[in-house]
Amino acid sequence: MLEKILIANRGEIALRILRACKELGIKTVAAHSVADKDLMHVRLADESVCIGPAKSSESYLNVPALISAMELTDADAVHPGYGFLSENADFAEQVEKCGFIFIGPTADTIRAMGDKVSAIEVMTKAGVPTVPGSNGPLTEDSERTLRIAREIGYPVMIKAAAGGGGRGMRVVHNEPSLLKSISVTQNEAGSFFGNSTVYLEKFLGNPRHIEIQVIGDGKGNAISLGDRDCSMQRRHQKVVEEAPAPGITDKERQDIMESCIEACKHLKYRGAGTLEFLYEDGNFYFIEMNTRVQVEHPVTELITGIDIVKEQLRVASGLPLSVKQEEIELRGHAIECRINAEDPVSFLPSPGKINMFHAPGGSGIRIDSHIYSGYTVPPYYDSLIAKLIAYGADRDEALARMSNALEEMHIDGIKTNISLHQDIIHDAGFRAGGVNIHYLEQKLNL
Ligand code: ADP
Repeated sequence: MLEKILIANRGEIALRILRACKELGIKTVAAHSVADKDLMHVRLADESVCIGPAKSSESYLNVPALISAMELTDADAVHPGYGFLSENADFAEQVEKCGFIFIGPTADTIRAMGDKVSAIEVMTKAGVPTVPGSNGPLTEDSERTLRIAREIGYPVMIKAAAGGGGRGMRVVHNEPSLLKSISVTQNEAGSFFGNSTVYLEKFLGNPRHIEIQVIGDGKGNAISLGDRDCSMQRRHQKVVEEAPAPGITDKERQDIMESCIEACKHLKYRGAGTLEFLYEDGNFYFIEMNTRVQVEHPVTELITGIDIVKEQLRVASGLPLSVKQEEIELRGHAIECRINAEDPVSFLPSPGKINMFHAPGGSGIRIDSHIYSGYTVPPYYDSLIAKLIAYGADRDEALARMSNALEEMHIDGIKTNISLHQDIIHDAGFRAGGVNIHYLEQKLNL
Protein backbone atom coordinates (compact mmCIF):
# COMPACT_ATOMS: atom_id res chain seq x y z
CA MET A 1 0.00 0.00 0.00
CA LEU A 2 1.10 3.58 -0.67
CA GLU A 3 2.68 5.21 2.37
CA LYS A 4 2.05 8.90 1.88
CA ILE A 5 -0.05 10.82 -0.60
CA LEU A 6 -0.43 14.46 -1.50
CA ILE A 7 -4.02 15.65 -1.84
CA ALA A 8 -4.09 18.15 -4.71
CA ASN A 9 -7.60 19.45 -4.18
CA ARG A 10 -9.80 21.26 -1.69
CA GLY A 11 -13.21 21.21 -0.02
CA GLU A 12 -15.33 18.13 0.45
CA ILE A 13 -13.40 15.87 -1.93
CA ALA A 14 -10.08 16.62 -0.22
CA LEU A 15 -11.66 15.58 3.09
CA ARG A 16 -13.22 12.51 1.44
CA ILE A 17 -9.78 11.41 0.18
CA LEU A 18 -8.18 12.12 3.58
CA ARG A 19 -10.75 9.92 5.33
CA ALA A 20 -10.06 7.00 2.99
CA CYS A 21 -6.30 7.39 3.52
CA LYS A 22 -6.70 7.38 7.28
CA GLU A 23 -8.75 4.19 7.11
CA LEU A 24 -5.98 2.55 5.10
CA GLY A 25 -3.14 3.89 7.26
CA ILE A 26 -1.79 6.13 4.49
CA LYS A 27 -0.16 9.40 5.58
CA THR A 28 -1.54 12.57 4.02
CA VAL A 29 -0.20 15.90 2.86
CA ALA A 30 -2.75 18.65 2.23
CA ALA A 31 -1.62 20.96 -0.58
CA HIS A 32 -3.65 24.13 -0.17
CA SER A 33 -3.87 27.73 -1.28
CA VAL A 34 -3.41 30.73 1.01
CA ALA A 35 -7.20 31.15 1.12
CA ASP A 36 -7.73 27.55 2.25
CA LYS A 37 -5.53 27.29 5.33
CA ASP A 38 -8.62 26.81 7.52
CA LEU A 39 -10.10 23.94 5.53
CA MET A 40 -11.08 20.91 7.58
CA HIS A 41 -8.74 18.49 5.79
CA VAL A 42 -5.78 20.86 6.20
CA ARG A 43 -6.31 20.68 9.95
CA LEU A 44 -6.64 16.90 9.92
CA ALA A 45 -3.80 16.02 7.53
CA ASP A 46 -0.46 14.73 8.81
CA GLU A 47 1.29 17.57 6.97
CA SER A 48 0.25 20.58 4.94
CA VAL A 49 1.98 22.69 2.33
CA CYS A 50 0.85 26.05 1.02
CA ILE A 51 1.21 25.87 -2.78
CA GLY A 52 0.27 29.41 -3.74
CA PRO A 53 -2.20 32.27 -3.62
CA ALA A 54 -5.99 31.98 -3.67
CA LYS A 55 -6.24 32.08 -7.46
CA SER A 56 -6.49 28.46 -8.72
CA SER A 57 -4.19 29.09 -11.66
CA GLU A 58 -1.43 29.90 -9.16
CA SER A 59 -2.20 27.15 -6.64
CA TYR A 60 -4.42 24.14 -7.43
CA LEU A 61 -3.43 24.32 -11.11
CA ASN A 62 0.21 25.10 -10.41
CA VAL A 63 2.03 21.96 -11.58
CA PRO A 64 5.60 22.92 -10.51
CA ALA A 65 4.35 23.91 -7.02
CA LEU A 66 2.52 20.60 -6.62
CA ILE A 67 5.46 18.52 -7.77
CA SER A 68 7.81 20.46 -5.48
CA ALA A 69 5.40 19.86 -2.61
CA MET A 70 5.55 16.11 -3.29
CA GLU A 71 9.31 16.22 -3.35
CA LEU A 72 9.52 18.30 -0.21
CA THR A 73 7.23 16.04 1.79
CA ASP A 74 8.48 12.79 0.28
CA ALA A 75 5.02 11.74 -0.87
CA ASP A 76 4.65 8.62 -3.08
CA ALA A 77 1.60 9.68 -5.00
CA VAL A 78 -0.87 12.46 -5.74
CA HIS A 79 -4.67 12.26 -5.64
CA PRO A 80 -6.14 14.95 -7.90
CA GLY A 81 -9.80 14.58 -6.82
CA TYR A 82 -12.17 16.00 -9.45
CA GLY A 83 -11.89 19.27 -11.40
CA PHE A 84 -8.57 21.18 -11.26
CA LEU A 85 -5.80 18.89 -12.66
CA SER A 86 -7.71 15.61 -12.41
CA GLU A 87 -8.12 15.21 -16.17
CA ASN A 88 -4.96 16.97 -17.24
CA ALA A 89 -2.82 14.45 -19.16
CA ASP A 90 0.26 16.70 -19.04
CA PHE A 91 0.09 16.84 -15.25
CA ALA A 92 -0.28 13.04 -14.98
CA GLU A 93 2.72 12.67 -17.30
CA GLN A 94 4.88 15.15 -15.34
CA VAL A 95 4.03 13.43 -12.06
CA GLU A 96 5.07 10.03 -13.38
CA LYS A 97 8.17 11.40 -15.11
CA CYS A 98 9.28 12.80 -11.75
CA GLY A 99 8.94 9.34 -10.24
CA PHE A 100 5.63 9.74 -8.39
CA ILE A 101 2.35 7.90 -8.83
CA PHE A 102 -0.66 9.66 -10.33
CA ILE A 103 -3.81 8.25 -8.72
CA GLY A 104 -5.82 7.87 -11.91
CA PRO A 105 -5.40 6.50 -15.42
CA THR A 106 -2.22 6.78 -17.48
CA ALA A 107 -1.55 10.06 -19.29
CA ASP A 108 -2.27 8.30 -22.61
CA THR A 109 -5.72 7.18 -21.49
CA ILE A 110 -6.56 10.64 -20.14
CA ARG A 111 -5.45 12.17 -23.44
CA ALA A 112 -7.44 9.69 -25.53
CA MET A 113 -10.62 10.24 -23.49
CA GLY A 114 -10.10 14.02 -23.30
CA ASP A 115 -10.47 14.25 -27.06
CA LYS A 116 -14.12 13.41 -27.76
CA VAL A 117 -13.44 12.25 -31.31
CA SER A 118 -10.83 9.75 -30.18
CA ALA A 119 -12.97 8.70 -27.18
CA ILE A 120 -15.90 7.92 -29.50
CA GLU A 121 -13.56 6.02 -31.79
CA VAL A 122 -12.20 3.89 -28.93
CA MET A 123 -15.70 3.20 -27.58
CA THR A 124 -17.14 2.30 -30.99
CA LYS A 125 -14.31 -0.18 -31.49
CA ALA A 126 -15.02 -1.69 -28.07
CA GLY A 127 -18.71 -2.12 -28.95
CA VAL A 128 -20.11 0.68 -26.75
CA PRO A 129 -23.17 2.33 -28.40
CA THR A 130 -22.49 5.92 -29.51
CA VAL A 131 -24.66 8.72 -30.93
CA PRO A 132 -25.15 8.38 -34.72
CA GLY A 133 -22.78 10.93 -36.21
CA SER A 134 -19.77 11.71 -38.34
CA ASN A 135 -17.65 9.20 -36.38
CA GLY A 136 -14.63 11.39 -36.86
CA PRO A 137 -13.66 15.01 -37.47
CA LEU A 138 -15.31 17.11 -40.16
CA THR A 139 -13.05 17.96 -43.08
CA GLU A 140 -12.78 20.86 -45.54
CA ASP A 141 -15.00 18.87 -47.92
CA SER A 142 -18.35 20.63 -47.44
CA GLU A 143 -20.20 18.24 -49.79
CA ARG A 144 -19.15 15.38 -47.53
CA THR A 145 -20.28 17.31 -44.43
CA LEU A 146 -23.70 18.06 -45.93
CA ARG A 147 -24.08 14.43 -46.93
CA ILE A 148 -23.20 13.20 -43.41
CA ALA A 149 -25.72 15.61 -41.86
CA ARG A 150 -28.45 14.45 -44.26
CA GLU A 151 -27.72 10.85 -43.36
CA ILE A 152 -27.84 11.59 -39.62
CA GLY A 153 -31.03 13.64 -40.07
CA TYR A 154 -31.72 17.10 -38.63
CA PRO A 155 -31.48 18.47 -35.99
CA VAL A 156 -27.77 17.77 -35.61
CA MET A 157 -25.27 18.94 -33.00
CA ILE A 158 -21.83 20.32 -33.84
CA LYS A 159 -19.38 19.49 -31.07
CA ALA A 160 -15.78 20.49 -30.45
CA ALA A 161 -13.44 17.52 -30.02
CA ALA A 162 -11.73 19.32 -27.15
CA GLY A 163 -14.97 20.73 -25.67
CA GLY A 164 -15.87 20.52 -22.01
CA GLY A 165 -17.99 22.09 -19.30
CA GLY A 166 -20.94 22.40 -21.67
CA ARG A 167 -19.03 24.70 -24.05
CA GLY A 168 -18.22 24.13 -27.71
CA MET A 169 -21.60 22.73 -28.78
CA ARG A 170 -24.19 24.06 -31.24
CA VAL A 171 -27.52 22.66 -32.44
CA VAL A 172 -28.41 23.06 -36.13
CA HIS A 173 -31.99 22.56 -37.29
CA ASN A 174 -31.65 22.72 -41.06
CA GLU A 175 -29.23 22.46 -43.96
CA PRO A 176 -28.96 26.16 -44.94
CA SER A 177 -27.42 27.10 -41.58
CA LEU A 178 -25.09 24.11 -41.24
CA LEU A 179 -21.86 25.26 -42.87
CA LYS A 180 -21.96 28.72 -41.31
CA SER A 181 -22.58 27.22 -37.84
CA ILE A 182 -19.70 24.83 -38.32
CA SER A 183 -17.25 27.62 -39.06
CA VAL A 184 -18.48 29.63 -36.04
CA THR A 185 -18.06 26.58 -33.77
CA GLN A 186 -14.60 25.86 -35.22
CA ASN A 187 -13.49 29.41 -34.48
CA GLU A 188 -14.84 29.30 -30.95
CA ALA A 189 -13.26 25.92 -30.31
CA GLY A 190 -9.95 27.23 -31.61
CA SER A 191 -9.93 30.15 -29.24
CA PHE A 192 -11.43 28.37 -26.18
CA PHE A 193 -9.63 25.06 -26.37
CA GLY A 194 -6.73 25.66 -28.76
CA ASN A 195 -8.11 22.95 -31.06
CA SER A 196 -10.64 23.75 -33.77
CA THR A 197 -11.57 20.13 -34.60
CA VAL A 198 -15.34 19.59 -34.62
CA TYR A 199 -17.62 16.65 -35.40
CA LEU A 200 -21.32 16.04 -35.94
CA GLU A 201 -23.75 14.08 -33.85
CA LYS A 202 -27.50 13.52 -33.96
CA PHE A 203 -29.22 15.94 -31.59
CA LEU A 204 -31.40 14.00 -29.18
CA GLY A 205 -34.52 15.92 -28.17
CA ASN A 206 -35.42 14.65 -24.72
CA PRO A 207 -32.71 12.36 -23.39
CA ARG A 208 -31.94 11.36 -19.84
CA HIS A 209 -28.37 11.48 -18.53
CA ILE A 210 -27.37 8.05 -17.26
CA GLU A 211 -23.80 7.12 -16.44
CA ILE A 212 -21.92 3.95 -15.59
CA GLN A 213 -19.26 3.71 -12.87
CA VAL A 214 -16.25 1.56 -13.69
CA ILE A 215 -12.97 0.70 -11.98
CA GLY A 216 -10.02 -0.97 -13.69
CA ASP A 217 -6.80 -2.34 -12.23
CA GLY A 218 -4.66 -1.19 -15.17
CA LYS A 219 -3.84 -4.79 -16.04
CA GLY A 220 -6.93 -5.70 -18.02
CA ASN A 221 -9.36 -6.45 -15.18
CA ALA A 222 -12.35 -4.16 -14.77
CA ILE A 223 -15.62 -4.02 -12.88
CA SER A 224 -18.73 -1.88 -13.06
CA LEU A 225 -20.61 -0.61 -10.00
CA GLY A 226 -23.79 0.10 -11.92
CA ASP A 227 -25.59 3.20 -13.10
CA ARG A 228 -26.53 6.67 -11.88
CA ASP A 229 -29.18 9.03 -13.17
CA CYS A 230 -27.97 12.64 -13.28
CA SER A 231 -30.70 14.18 -15.44
CA MET A 232 -31.58 16.91 -12.93
CA GLN A 233 -29.29 19.59 -14.31
CA ARG A 234 -29.12 23.33 -14.63
CA ARG A 235 -26.84 24.74 -17.31
CA HIS A 236 -25.26 21.29 -17.72
CA GLN A 237 -24.43 21.26 -14.01
CA LYS A 238 -25.80 18.31 -12.06
CA VAL A 239 -28.02 19.27 -9.11
CA VAL A 240 -29.45 15.94 -7.88
CA GLU A 241 -28.16 12.46 -8.68
CA GLU A 242 -29.44 9.00 -7.86
CA ALA A 243 -28.59 5.35 -8.18
CA PRO A 244 -29.87 3.18 -9.70
CA ALA A 245 -31.55 5.08 -12.55
CA PRO A 246 -35.34 4.77 -12.15
CA GLY A 247 -37.23 2.67 -14.68
CA ILE A 248 -34.20 1.06 -16.32
CA THR A 249 -34.74 -2.69 -16.61
CA ASP A 250 -32.24 -5.18 -15.20
CA LYS A 251 -31.53 -6.38 -18.73
CA GLU A 252 -30.82 -2.85 -20.03
CA ARG A 253 -28.55 -2.20 -17.05
CA GLN A 254 -26.69 -5.49 -17.43
CA ASP A 255 -26.14 -4.96 -21.15
CA ILE A 256 -24.74 -1.46 -20.84
CA MET A 257 -22.59 -2.40 -17.83
CA GLU A 258 -21.15 -5.30 -19.78
CA SER A 259 -20.16 -3.19 -22.75
CA CYS A 260 -18.52 -0.63 -20.43
CA ILE A 261 -16.57 -3.40 -18.68
CA GLU A 262 -15.43 -4.72 -22.06
CA ALA A 263 -14.28 -1.24 -23.10
CA CYS A 264 -12.26 -0.85 -19.87
CA LYS A 265 -10.66 -4.26 -20.24
CA HIS A 266 -9.76 -3.38 -23.81
CA LEU A 267 -8.23 -0.06 -22.66
CA LYS A 268 -6.48 -1.71 -19.69
CA TYR A 269 -8.15 1.10 -17.82
CA ARG A 270 -6.53 2.08 -14.51
CA GLY A 271 -8.54 3.57 -11.63
CA ALA A 272 -12.07 4.89 -11.33
CA GLY A 273 -13.95 6.24 -14.32
CA THR A 274 -17.40 7.07 -15.59
CA LEU A 275 -18.89 6.52 -19.01
CA GLU A 276 -21.60 9.10 -19.60
CA PHE A 277 -24.57 8.28 -21.80
CA LEU A 278 -27.65 9.98 -23.10
CA TYR A 279 -30.62 7.60 -22.87
CA GLU A 280 -33.66 7.99 -25.09
CA ASP A 281 -36.39 5.56 -26.20
CA GLY A 282 -34.71 2.57 -24.64
CA ASN A 283 -31.27 3.25 -26.18
CA PHE A 284 -27.99 4.32 -24.60
CA TYR A 285 -25.67 6.66 -26.51
CA PHE A 286 -22.12 7.24 -25.21
CA ILE A 287 -21.14 10.92 -25.06
CA GLU A 288 -17.96 11.06 -23.00
CA MET A 289 -15.81 9.39 -20.38
CA ASN A 290 -14.63 11.08 -17.19
CA THR A 291 -11.32 9.63 -16.09
CA ARG A 292 -11.57 10.51 -12.39
CA VAL A 293 -13.75 10.16 -9.31
CA GLN A 294 -17.10 11.95 -9.79
CA VAL A 295 -18.83 14.32 -7.37
CA GLU A 296 -21.78 11.90 -7.29
CA HIS A 297 -19.77 8.75 -6.45
CA PRO A 298 -21.36 8.36 -2.97
CA VAL A 299 -24.74 7.23 -4.34
CA THR A 300 -22.97 4.29 -5.97
CA GLU A 301 -21.04 3.56 -2.77
CA LEU A 302 -24.27 3.38 -0.80
CA ILE A 303 -25.99 0.91 -3.11
CA THR A 304 -22.92 -1.31 -3.59
CA GLY A 305 -21.16 -1.01 -0.23
CA ILE A 306 -17.89 -0.42 -2.10
CA ASP A 307 -15.60 2.49 -1.25
CA ILE A 308 -14.57 3.91 -4.61
CA VAL A 309 -11.76 6.10 -3.25
CA LYS A 310 -10.24 3.16 -1.39
CA GLU A 311 -10.36 1.16 -4.63
CA GLN A 312 -8.52 4.02 -6.36
CA LEU A 313 -5.85 3.89 -3.66
CA ARG A 314 -5.57 0.10 -3.94
CA VAL A 315 -5.15 0.22 -7.70
CA ALA A 316 -2.54 2.99 -7.44
CA SER A 317 -0.66 0.78 -4.96
CA GLY A 318 -0.58 -2.03 -7.53
CA LEU A 319 -3.04 -4.17 -5.57
CA PRO A 320 -5.93 -6.03 -7.21
CA LEU A 321 -9.51 -4.74 -7.00
CA SER A 322 -11.10 -5.83 -3.74
CA VAL A 323 -14.19 -7.37 -5.41
CA LYS A 324 -15.11 -9.43 -8.44
CA GLN A 325 -18.00 -8.48 -10.72
CA GLU A 326 -20.12 -11.44 -9.57
CA GLU A 327 -19.82 -10.25 -5.94
CA ILE A 328 -21.28 -6.84 -6.74
CA GLU A 329 -24.92 -6.40 -5.86
CA LEU A 330 -26.95 -3.22 -6.34
CA ARG A 331 -29.12 -2.97 -3.27
CA GLY A 332 -31.60 -0.24 -2.33
CA HIS A 333 -31.65 3.30 -3.64
CA ALA A 334 -29.56 6.43 -2.96
CA ILE A 335 -30.10 10.10 -3.80
CA GLU A 336 -27.62 12.97 -3.54
CA CYS A 337 -28.42 16.68 -3.28
CA ARG A 338 -25.59 19.10 -4.03
CA ILE A 339 -25.79 21.85 -1.43
CA ASN A 340 -24.28 25.02 -2.84
CA ALA A 341 -23.48 28.38 -1.25
CA GLU A 342 -25.76 30.27 -3.59
CA ASP A 343 -29.06 32.11 -3.78
CA PRO A 344 -31.78 29.48 -4.39
CA VAL A 345 -33.60 31.72 -6.87
CA SER A 346 -30.96 33.81 -8.68
CA PHE A 347 -28.22 31.15 -8.33
CA LEU A 348 -25.68 33.89 -7.56
CA PRO A 349 -22.83 32.62 -5.35
CA SER A 350 -23.12 33.45 -1.65
CA PRO A 351 -19.68 33.16 -0.06
CA GLY A 352 -19.08 34.31 3.52
CA LYS A 353 -18.93 33.18 7.12
CA ILE A 354 -21.06 30.26 8.29
CA ASN A 355 -22.18 31.32 11.76
CA MET A 356 -23.82 28.03 12.55
CA PHE A 357 -24.01 24.64 10.86
CA HIS A 358 -26.29 21.89 12.05
CA ALA A 359 -25.91 18.56 10.26
CA PRO A 360 -28.91 16.27 9.80
CA GLY A 361 -28.74 12.61 10.79
CA GLY A 362 -30.65 9.39 11.19
CA SER A 363 -30.76 6.10 9.35
CA GLY A 364 -29.33 6.14 5.86
CA ILE A 365 -28.06 9.73 5.94
CA ARG A 366 -24.52 10.60 4.82
CA ILE A 367 -23.00 14.05 4.54
CA ASP A 368 -19.78 14.70 2.69
CA SER A 369 -18.82 18.21 3.66
CA HIS A 370 -15.88 20.27 4.83
CA ILE A 371 -17.89 23.06 6.46
CA TYR A 372 -18.19 23.77 10.18
CA SER A 373 -19.61 26.55 12.36
CA GLY A 374 -17.28 29.53 12.01
CA TYR A 375 -15.89 28.46 8.60
CA THR A 376 -15.74 31.14 5.90
CA VAL A 377 -16.66 30.01 2.36
CA PRO A 378 -14.11 31.78 0.12
CA PRO A 379 -15.32 33.49 -3.05
CA TYR A 380 -12.63 32.01 -5.30
CA TYR A 381 -13.84 28.47 -5.94
CA ASP A 382 -16.80 26.27 -6.76
CA SER A 383 -19.86 26.92 -4.57
CA LEU A 384 -20.36 23.27 -3.50
CA ILE A 385 -20.29 23.17 0.30
CA ALA A 386 -21.92 19.83 1.09
CA LYS A 387 -23.30 16.69 -0.47
CA LEU A 388 -26.30 15.34 1.34
CA ILE A 389 -26.92 11.71 0.50
CA ALA A 390 -29.89 9.59 1.55
CA TYR A 391 -30.07 5.81 1.28
CA GLY A 392 -33.21 3.72 1.54
CA ALA A 393 -34.35 0.15 0.92
CA ASP A 394 -36.22 1.62 -2.05
CA ARG A 395 -36.59 5.00 -3.77
CA ASP A 396 -39.58 6.05 -1.64
CA GLU A 397 -37.64 5.48 1.55
CA ALA A 398 -34.61 7.37 0.19
CA LEU A 399 -36.90 10.29 -0.77
CA ALA A 400 -38.55 10.34 2.65
CA ARG A 401 -35.19 10.33 4.42
CA MET A 402 -33.88 13.08 2.14
CA SER A 403 -36.92 15.19 2.87
CA ASN A 404 -36.34 14.84 6.63
CA ALA A 405 -32.64 15.56 6.30
CA LEU A 406 -33.18 18.71 4.24
CA GLU A 407 -35.59 19.93 6.90
CA GLU A 408 -33.10 19.22 9.70
CA MET A 409 -30.08 20.76 7.96
CA HIS A 410 -29.31 24.33 9.02
CA ILE A 411 -26.67 26.62 7.61
CA ASP A 412 -26.75 30.11 9.04
CA GLY A 413 -24.87 33.14 7.71
CA ILE A 414 -24.83 32.45 3.97
CA LYS A 415 -27.51 31.59 1.42
CA THR A 416 -27.81 28.00 0.23
CA ASN A 417 -29.95 26.08 -2.24
CA ILE A 418 -31.50 23.83 0.44
CA SER A 419 -34.97 25.22 -0.32
CA LEU A 420 -34.55 24.41 -4.02
CA HIS A 421 -33.75 20.83 -3.08
CA GLN A 422 -36.86 20.67 -0.91
CA ASP A 423 -38.94 21.76 -3.91
CA ILE A 424 -37.25 19.15 -6.12
CA ILE A 425 -37.71 16.31 -3.63
CA HIS A 426 -41.44 17.11 -3.39
CA ASP A 427 -41.94 17.73 -7.11
CA ALA A 428 -44.44 15.26 -8.58
CA GLY A 429 -42.51 14.77 -11.84
CA PHE A 430 -39.22 14.09 -10.08
CA ARG A 431 -40.94 11.77 -7.60
CA ALA A 432 -42.41 9.78 -10.48
CA GLY A 433 -38.81 9.19 -11.70
CA GLY A 434 -37.19 9.16 -15.10
CA VAL A 435 -37.36 12.87 -16.05
CA ASN A 436 -35.18 14.12 -18.91
CA ILE A 437 -32.28 16.59 -18.87
CA HIS A 438 -34.51 19.60 -19.60
CA TYR A 439 -36.92 18.95 -16.76
CA LEU A 440 -35.29 21.06 -14.04
CA GLU A 441 -34.74 24.09 -16.25
CA GLN A 442 -38.34 23.88 -17.46
CA LYS A 443 -39.54 23.63 -13.88
CA LEU A 444 -37.48 26.69 -12.98
CA ASN A 445 -38.90 28.51 -16.04
CA LEU A 446 -35.49 29.19 -17.49
P1 ADP B 1 -19.20 18.48 -21.85
O1 ADP B 1 -17.91 17.75 -21.95
O2 ADP B 1 -19.08 19.91 -22.22
O3 ADP B 1 -19.90 18.25 -20.54
P2 ADP B 1 -20.95 16.52 -23.14
O4 ADP B 1 -20.60 15.87 -24.42
O5 ADP B 1 -20.84 15.70 -21.89
O6 ADP B 1 -20.11 17.87 -23.01
O7 ADP B 1 -22.41 17.11 -23.23
C1 ADP B 1 -22.92 17.96 -22.25
C2 ADP B 1 -24.43 18.01 -22.31
O8 ADP B 1 -24.86 18.51 -23.60
C3 ADP B 1 -25.11 16.65 -22.19
O9 ADP B 1 -25.29 16.26 -20.84
C4 ADP B 1 -26.44 16.96 -22.87
O10 ADP B 1 -27.24 17.72 -22.01
C5 ADP B 1 -26.03 17.84 -24.03
N1 ADP B 1 -25.72 17.03 -25.23
C6 ADP B 1 -24.52 16.58 -25.62
N2 ADP B 1 -24.62 15.87 -26.77
C7 ADP B 1 -25.92 15.87 -27.12
C8 ADP B 1 -26.67 15.31 -28.20
N3 ADP B 1 -26.10 14.62 -29.18
N4 ADP B 1 -28.00 15.53 -28.22
C9 ADP B 1 -28.61 16.26 -27.25
N5 ADP B 1 -27.97 16.82 -26.21
C10 ADP B 1 -26.63 16.63 -26.13
